[in-house]
Amino acid sequence: MQMNTFKIAALAGDGIGPEVMREALRVLHATANKFAFQLSVTQAPVGWAGIDTAGKALPDATLALCRESDSILFGSVGLPDRDPTIPKEERPERAALLRIRKEFGLFANLRPVSLPKALAHACPLAKERQGDGIDILVVRELTGGMYFGQPKKTEDIGGGHHRATDTMVYTTSEIERIAHVAFQSARLRRKKLTSIDKANVLENGILWRETVTRIGKQYPDVSLEHMFVDNGAMQLMLRPTQFDVMLCENMFGDILSDEAAALGGSLGMLPSASLGATTGGNTFGFYEPAGGTAPDIAGKNLANPIAQILSCALLLRHSFGLNEPALAIEQAVTRAINSGLRTGDIFSPNEPNARKVGTREMGDAIAAAI
Ligand code: NAD
Repeated sequence: MQMNTFKIAALAGDGIGPEVMREALRVLHATANKFAFQLSVTQAPVGWAGIDTAGKALPDATLALCRESDSILFGSVGLPDRDPTIPKEERPERAALLRIRKEFGLFANLRPVSLPKALAHACPLAKERQGDGIDILVVRELTGGMYFGQPKKTEDIGGGHHRATDTMVYTTSEIERIAHVAFQSARLRRKKLTSIDKANVLENGILWRETVTRIGKQYPDVSLEHMFVDNGAMQLMLRPTQFDVMLCENMFGDILSDEAAALGGSLGMLPSASLGATTGGNTFGFYEPAGGTAPDIAGKNLANPIAQILSCALLLRHSFGLNEPALAIEQAVTRAINSGLRTGDIFSPNEPNARKVGTREMGDAIAAAI
């Protein structure tokens, strides 16, 4: 039988991007060797690396590579000292990141936050609120709602006053497709889904709740509960361990995913996935760390590669359906953490067995643990 070869475009970008990407690719290849699946990884420039080599933040050849690939593993782009020197629409985040999101119809954003017990000190919550460890997946709708709804305008209404209008709008089909992503993700985890809305005030909330409830009937093995967004924000601080998967519309997800991220201890630990349509069993996905290019530590072997490495786990799970290899990566990360290795962002001098390491040594340990 001919084995599937999974094609990945690896775009490291700027700042710490190349350092953390190098470690992530080592771990990814170690995983492919162990589980005997075929990968074809091609690297290409993006961001300032794209501007410097081909005159554009998203060079044509890089975009063409993405189109030929099954998924994109992304680093991060943008440099605060260089961005202001060029027009806004040519800057890396807009010209590369937003362009890719639009081009590939990425409508589902997945942000897992997992705080291993060994990193309890890095979490802003008191230890007793962390239970056996926080492990939440926020699924955010990414292309609808208030950020894109029309009309969207600011009018002069006379007398020196203005009126600003944003429109929150969702169709049933937009809610259905993100609900399916959330239920399917819950199936791969602890099978609990909390759908967030504001059904007590918003028409959108009522449609959201009705639609998610209806789709939920197709997933009888997943337990579904509904929660108002204000309570959801509060519960994340009071009792985060009650959550498995949180499903949110665009704006609520933007806010709650950052609130949840704060529980994860460091930006350097947080991966993310943005998913597009599924064709022929493969889901096109874009995988990146939640943080940026961290210019303050770039090129110094100080960056935590874990967010980029965990992005590979998401890629294997969500684009290629390889859950076991994805789990192996996640467990290898936990093992490295439990053995006491810490990059600077998660290091505390109060941990007696912790050892401060660089980007490369952390990558070595995780690759070896696969
Ligand atoms: P940032 O996320 O790059 O850095 C914020 C802080 O977190 C810094 O102290 C940094 O050192 C630390 N940090 C981030 N990732 C880390 C890691 N892996 N290991 C250890 N520490 C880490 O945010 P910023 O400073 O606001 O932005 C820097 C640049 O990145 C800007 O040009 C911004 O536009 C860009 N940016 C890009 C993306 C993206 O490509 N998706 C996202 C956010 C910011």
